[in-house]
Amino acid sequence: MSKTSHSVWSVAVFAPLRQSFDYRWEGPPPPDLVGQRVAVPFGRSQRLGIVVKALSQSSTERLKAIDATLDDGPLFDEHLLQLGRWAADYYQYPLGEVLQGMLPTLYRRRRPVPSFIEPRWCLTAAGRAVAADALKNAPRQAEILAVLAKGAATYTSFLGRGYSPAAAFSRLESKGWIESHLPEDAVPAPIEFQQGFDLNDAQRNALARVAEAEAKFSPVLLDGVTGSGKTEVYLQAARRAAIQGKQTIVLVPEIGLTDQMVRRFASHFGDALSVFHSGLSERERTRSWQRCRRGEIAVLLGTRSSIWVAAGALGLIIVDEEHDPSYKQQEGFRYSARDVAVMRAKLCDCPIILGSATPSLESLANVDDGKYELMALPDRIGSAALPSVEYVDIRGVNTRGGIGNALAAALADNLDSGKQSILFLNRRGYAPLSMCFSCGTVAQCDKCDAYLVVHKRIARLVCHHCERSIPLNGRPDCCADPDCRELGVGTERVEEALQALFPRARLLRIDRDTVTTAKQIETAFSAIREGAVDIILGTQMIAKGHDFPDVTLVGVIDADSRLFSLDFRAPERLAQLIVQVAGRAGRGQYPGKMIVQTLHPHHPLFEQLKRLDFAGFARNELAVRRKTSLPPFAAMLLIRAESQDRERPSRFLNAVRTKAFANVSGIASSAPLPAAIERKSGVYRNLIVMRSPSRHTLHRHMRESIDFIEGLAKQYRVRWFLDVDPVDVL
Ligand code: ADP
Ligand code: ZN
Repeated sequence: MSKTSHSVWSVAVFAPLRQSFDYRWEGPPPPDLVGQRVAVPFGRSQRLGIVVKALSQSSTERLKAIDATLDDGPLFDEHLLQLGRWAADYYQYPLGEVLQGMLPTLYRRRRPVPSFIEPRWCLTAAGRAVAADALKNAPRQAEILAVLAKGAATYTSFLGRGYSPAAAFSRLESKGWIESHLPEDAVPAPIEFQQGFDLNDAQRNALARVAEAEAKFSPVLLDGVTGSGKTEVYLQAARRAAIQGKQTIVLVPEIGLTDQMVRRFASHFGDALSVFHSGLSERERTRSWQRCRRGEIAVLLGTRSSIWVAAGALGLIIVDEEHDPSYKQQEGFRYSARDVAVMRAKLCDCPIILGSATPSLESLANVDDGKYELMALPDRIGSAALPSVEYVDIRGVNTRGGIGNALAAALADNLDSGKQSILFLNRRGYAPLSMCFSCGTVAQCDKCDAYLVVHKRIARLVCHHCERSIPLNGRPDCCADPDCRELGVGTERVEEALQALFPRARLLRIDRDTVTTAKQIETAFSAIREGAVDIILGTQMIAKGHDFPDVTLVGVIDADSRLFSLDFRAPERLAQLIVQVAGRAGRGQYPGKMIVQTLHPHHPLFEQLKRLDFAGFARNELAVRRKTSLPPFAAMLLIRAESQDRERPSRFLNAVRTKAFANVSGIASSAPLPAAIERKSGVYRNLIVMRSPSRHTLHRHMRESIDFIEGLAKQYRVRWFLDVDPVDVL
């Protein structure tokens, strides 16, 4: 059956299906429907979807009609649709689900989503007359008043600073100090470009390189040591784009890192800045998304998912800490926001800056291949030098709660001279093991292949993989005369030791047990910045990106656990960790020092990182990867399979290997391997690793095999998924 032109439309339905479906449009000739959200009949129910193409005819018999369009226009422009198509193809994930995932959740429901046209807030005459110290006990209200004194601003532009501004706004309004106006009646402050200082030569070069690229795809890897002024380059580059009426998307790896970035951008961009991450409410996120789509803002700043936000005038993308594994989504649609960002810049013909003090080996290899340009910021700003690194041998040393003598002495010195210290241990809880000295058993989770972690404060043994817990003295698997003792140290135990060692020191522990909400993170970090803390103890939440100028000592309590990981990226991650953690020390006017406690003081990796020479490490590691044909010198993908039955995943994977990947030249596949924690929440998990020097060969073969593999999965009754460019292999 053939149809006249443009009355047939191909729709990517929000469903886990790898094909699109054709529908006709009934009634008056439709406007261009491409990119619009529509409701369509689907089987016996109705589904939402995105129109992805206009067709002149369809091979489907008896086409069903689109029920309705849901918004006032397309949600996807041509670029975004292309990006969605590319991602669906590259990650081999259903297009409908990719497009659905690119939208704020409000758009995933049938209802129309209102256009949140935001009023702008201004000071009233009374608000302008408020004395400077009237709000000294209400810092949020004071912050809002100070911003509005410069010009009108939307509520949304105050999001992302680690607290909800709602209460402060309503207080100020009820005092009659602020009032809202239609956006066109209230003038925002102009974007502020004053700089208190001049960029140094390295910064100027980097900026010039980005500026030259202007409307061209041109990826720059900004390789700058911690504190070398990368953020300042981001700001200036975004400013240049804004002057030309272009928008910038800035990605940061974690919510915990957004607030300090937001503050720096907010002081320049004011109302022209919006934030986007999962710490905001659905409504707030939708507002941000809409403001960006309408072109009302110059800068959108957020985590991973911000890379999908519609921005008609996109002119620059910035990915801070580009090496960070959090850019990879680890469930469902497993994409890398960094890699999607590069593709988006390519589709939009705009420059992109990938910044890091410890660039990923993938990006460094792209530099070697001439795909990215390397711009280096080799020195810290001002007189600040990188900290010195000392490896302390703790073999045979009696540590107190993980703290050896050398580290204790350094902490004592720092306390005496009023400086701040950071202690890093990537293990929360009191101790990783509880062992009974009567019967020798170790407390284990009965749903996971994992030991239970002792949490003393809540008096429970907790599984960190499924979160199930039992009372500390309630082990059902132990003997009649239990003598359970804790082995090893976690942050809770270190905290206890610190309290005993330094009773007068002000301690702050930052891990997922003490700090959970965005507000608590903000409170903790401002306490550090205000000097209200002497010793900060934490997990990887404190390892990255933060600028705490008064920290001069960093201690790594245990660096060894990663030396023996089987994941081929373990050395890279350990090197990044050491350099990043060291980067927290000595950022201000005083020199910094890092102490790393280890049982392997002469391990070559540690020797190599003595001078925090990440580039040197990376060169060697790249040579190893080349020799062993590992990424970035080979494309990799994983097939993971899960089942409550122990045998099925490996049997299924064996079938995949022998039936779908046998005798395919140029592709090497591993035997089925158990995941690092094979059984989790009662589910057995296995995987196979596929590698090829040719990404094209690997992806093409996978694409051609996917229906067959889907069939095998049904037959073997397993859940399976594909992980393209995995960041964690085991
Ligand atoms: P990074 O992002 O590389 O860690 P930042 O951009 O945060 O570095 O810079 C470190 C500190 O130096 C910040 O306080 C910043 O304001 C300041 N700074 C950056 N560039 C300059 C410059 N050219 N002159 C003086 N101070 C600068
Ligand atoms: Zn468990």
